[in-house]
Amino acid sequence: MANNSPFIIPIFLPQLGCKQKCFYCDQGIITGHGIDFPTPEGISKIIEEALPFINKGTRKRVCELAFYGGNFTGLDKELKEAYLLKAKKWVDKGYIDSIRVSTRPDYIDYKEASYLKKMGVAVVEIGVPSMVDKVLIASGRGHSAKTAKEAAFNIKKAYLSLVIQTMIGLPSESLSDALFTAREVISLKPDGIRIYPVVVLKGTRLAKLYNEGKFLPLSYNQTVRWLLRILPLYKKAKIKILRIGLEGIEKISKSGGVIAGVTDPSLRQKVESILMFKKAKREFSKLNPKGKVEVKLFPKDISNFVGQKKKNIKRLEKIFPISELKIKGDERVKQGEIEVDFL
Ligand code: SF4
Repeated sequence: MANNSPFIIPIFLPQLGCKQKCFYCDQGIITGHGIDFPTPEGISKIIEEALPFINKGTRKRVCELAFYGGNFTGLDKELKEAYLLKAKKWVDKGYIDSIRVSTRPDYIDYKEASYLKKMGVAVVEIGVPSMVDKVLIASGRGHSAKTAKEAAFNIKKAYLSLVIQTMIGLPSESLSDALFTAREVISLKPDGIRIYPVVVLKGTRLAKLYNEGKFLPLSYNQTVRWLLRILPLYKKAKIKILRIGLEGIEKISKSGGVIAGVTDPSLRQKVESILMFKKAKREFSKLNPKGKVEVKLFPKDISNFVGQKKKNIKRLEKIFPISELKIKGDERVKQGEIEVDFL
């Protein structure tokens, strides 16, 4: 099966260009790079090391160079240009297809977005933890929902792909707020989203609030419940969910970086698996299957359908009079859908 996701070479610039340290953030802990970051000259070495994996000429996957971990458009003008010029050289040589940057909504207007486009950037990720102003204020974010909307508009207007990074479980956020945020994000028509359930990182202002008993992150069950409500909204709107939870959360947790919050790396699979069970139950209820049944799914959906320790299969076999449930991967079935046949 072809892998359509881009091959990303990450360049971590921890907290670089950030006007402040947001309550919940410590990019040194998240990226595992402390405060070290490569110079513009240094990024060539990182790319060269990744070259054997890129396989120029024969590769099918799109290769992207991504500046993560800071507020790229908040960088000093000369430094930003130096990074982009270096990256663009690799684009011009044909080793890299495009450049991706992550930034804050209050640091990108149409002029900035057009500049990024001119410099070879194709994707801009903006952090929009919430679309509810009271939540943004309680999280010390320093920009409003209106600013996030304007930034999204300007990024799209400059013909850049837009990825929105959201969070759930922020201070003073309710499930209704999180659902409102999801609907607002959908209305901005991003090309993809990432959802980060809040974890309390060591040394952050959120850790202080947590230690003073003024903040509690969502429990595991609450996180699952919220995601079960939020994910279907994005799926229905056909917005790509690129990630749920911090990359490498298990490692961050093992290194002592997380004080509280959900650190299960299989959180997404758990939620997707419950959603798949609900879907199968709905379909089976309509069809009343008996005896031998075959379910066809998009191959990537099989593990979610089966569930951990075949939990979903066992539950379906208990509810419906099925003697055998066969599962078949079929690329013709749309991702997230199931087809049921009687054998
Ligand atoms: S959340 Fe983004 S803007 Fe805030 S400190 Fe972290 S990297 Fe910087």
